[in-house]
Amino acid sequence: MLKLLLLALLVAAVVAVLRGAFRGRSAPATLTAPEPIVACAHCGLLLPVAETWPATQRASGRVFCSEAHRTADESAAAS
Ligand SMILES: [Zn+2]
Repeated sequence: MLKLLLLALLVAAVVAVLRGAFRGRSAPATLTAPEPIVACAHCGLLLPVAETWPATQRASGRVFCSEAHRTADESAAAS
């Protein structure tokens, strides 16, 4: 009977060790897709899409790094 109890404890210990070993291999659950990087249409600076200034004529699809570059680019195009 004592041998059976020791065998059960040994199996439980092996299972606990194996669970710990496999837990470290799983990928983190908080992976997110990388944010696209675009270039400023005026100076070429690379920046994330969320930080860009879109052109006032949105159909053009051009984006800028700052309001100053958007204004400079659009006033140069108008003249
Ligand atoms: Zn720029």
